[in-house]
Amino acid sequence: TEPLHIIGAGMAGSEAAWQAVSMGVPVVLHEMRPHVGTFAHRTGNFAEMVCSNSFRSDDDERNAVGLLHWEMRAAGGIVLQSAERHRLPAGGALAVDRDPFSEWITAQLRAHPLVTVSETEVTELPADGHWIVATGPLTSGALADSIRAVTGAESLAFFDAIAPIVYADSIDMSVAWRQSRYDKGETEEERTAYINCPMDRDQYEAFIDAMLAAEKAEFHEGETAGYFDGCLPVEVMAERGRETLRFGPMKPVGLTNPHRPDVKPYAVVQLRRDNALGTLYNIVGFQTKMKYGAQTTVFKMIPGLTQASFARLGGIHRNTFINSPTLLDGRMRLKSRPNIRFAGQITGVEGYVESASMGLLAGRMAAAEILGRDLAPPPRETALGALVAHITGDADAKTFQPMNVNFGLFPPIEAKGGRRGRKDRYKAYTDRAKEAFNQWLAGQS
Ligand code: FAD
Repeated sequence: TEPLHIIGAGMAGSEAAWQAVSMGVPVVLHEMRPHVGTFAHRTGNFAEMVCSNSFRSDDDERNAVGLLHWEMRAAGGIVLQSAERHRLPAGGALAVDRDPFSEWITAQLRAHPLVTVSETEVTELPADGHWIVATGPLTSGALADSIRAVTGAESLAFFDAIAPIVYADSIDMSVAWRQSRYDKGETEEERTAYINCPMDRDQYEAFIDAMLAAEKAEFHEGETAGYFDGCLPVEVMAERGRETLRFGPMKPVGLTNPHRPDVKPYAVVQLRRDNALGTLYNIVGFQTKMKYGAQTTVFKMIPGLTQASFARLGGIHRNTFINSPTLLDGRMRLKSRPNIRFAGQITGVEGYVESASMGLLAGRMAAAEILGRDLAPPPRETALGALVAHITGDADAKTFQPMNVNFGLFPPIEAKGGRRGRKDRYKAYTDRAKEAFNQWLAGQS
């Protein structure tokens, strides 16, 4: 059997390797650490957790990341197996003892008869053979240059600039309204692509004060250069002058509030549709380094968002990622070089769990291909399927930014017979997902 080469033994690469060898396909795992380091990794271990020691909520009934844990356990994932073995008490969260967690994964893979480890930095995208690139947010410079040469400069980003994302159904439409600035657009859908939240002068001034006072996250060492190009954090815009936002992303021009047509808003916050399903909206221009707690307080001051529920909060990080919606096919292959798959954070998912899950899928798909089979992605109703469908198709390629798993990525379940509580609805999502995931798994055996 031909081997599968995997570049990077992080969260995604380790999981991809485990899945492939579990299917009987030999793997060559290329990892540059400990010979070449990154600013965040400390060890030469595989699947090192570079920051927090948490895989977030383990609630597989009412939480999307908990559901992703469930699916990865069902698929025999090594990351979840090790997390389970090295679990620390943390309420509903899955927190782990980080060093034994990654040492155990390293030992399992190194001891596996089908795994060969090559401790080298790969500096070029290979032309032949079966490959998965899983080099993560801190992909080495030489390889990043090679990826850029193949994909085009526009398609590889070195920083993310994430604006908060809100569940559409948590926006108060008795205050907000749908309208594109100057009613621009060919179709009704385009003319109503934005949701607008109006502010009067007092609300605007209080909002600016709150942003200036909010606690901000520090950049990690070695992380700072270059992020100011075209994506200033919203609070930095506010620091430059109290009126800067009102003449920037919050300008109130070209918009008429149908709830109060007689009053011209002093400023307007705009939200733009973030996915094809129309379940998620991002706050335009609001990429931020404010701490998460501060973000929820500050953004809920926006009229129309006082009850908002956030699918993800904003952030700006050093993060190498490709424009997956344009570059990858539905089976995570580079369209221009289908012998190469991408997996993990470099595909534009965010977080340990999401990255490992994309490794799980890419590993299975690549191994299936080597064995002469075709493996379709899991159904969209599953967490894995929803996430991969988002990055390889649903997300808007022009504004593509990294995404966490969340219920807004799933085909909506309409409330039947009156308004169902959000919690009940989430249970319906996870029940539907588990059934679909089991069927997908059964189809492979
Ligand atoms: P990684 O786990 O980074 O693995 C990539 C591997 O590829 C590394 O081992 C690297 O050494 C190797 N590599 C890179 N280039 C080459 C090359 N050319 N040749 C060979 N090997 C190579 N996520 C969270 O969920 N929680 C957090 O608290 C968190 N904090 C973070 C803090 C920082 C500073 C950073 C940078 C990221 C953080 N993340 C966090 C995101 C986290 O890094 C990812 O979610 C996860 O580790 C990504 O998995 P991955 O497999 O895609 O990449």
